[in-house]
Amino acid sequence: MESLNKLIGNNILVGIGYDIHKTIKTTKNHLIKLGGVKIKSKIKVISHSDGDVILHAITDSLLGALSLRDIGTYFPNNKKNFNRNSIDFLNYALTKMTSKKMTINNIDIMIVSEEPKINPHFKKILDSISKKLDINKNSISIKATTNEGAGPVGRSEGIAVYSVCTIVQN
Ligand code: ZN
Repeated sequence: MESLNKLIGNNILVGIGYDIHKTIKTTKNHLIKLGGVKIKSKIKVISHSDGDVILHAITDSLLGALSLRDIGTYFPNNKKNFNRNSIDFLNYALTKMTSKKMTINNIDIMIVSEEPKINPHFKKILDSISKKLDINKNSISIKATTNEGAGPVGRSEGIAVYSVCTIVQN
């Protein structure tokens, strides 16, 4: 039993990621990116990069599972990363994972947002994440909630995302 625990312990790693971005309400429609999907919204996401808060949280959970610190360590807010496509951050973490001969077992994502509402875009976001992570949709959980009007997120002043993943040896 002890050796079995050791075997499992060595082969399953868990990581947590969290990200929040400020948003501002506007009258015009803006295209914001969530999980690699462009969504029309009357809010604007404030960010140095393209502001894809879902991909940032996923990336940090993968880096966390690999004990590799966080996005900011590798992609600081410099000129090179201005307006940068967040897929670059995700691919960096995926490459690190693959080089350790590991693969994603499952991922659980929680989006906290008043605006935009996530449900109308749920399928597209799931498809996009499945494609980007190259894993089956059954291994991805996406949950969306509001903050019930409370706090900055509740006042549509921000979107927050939590991500937890497990990664395993190939
Ligand atoms: Zn971010």
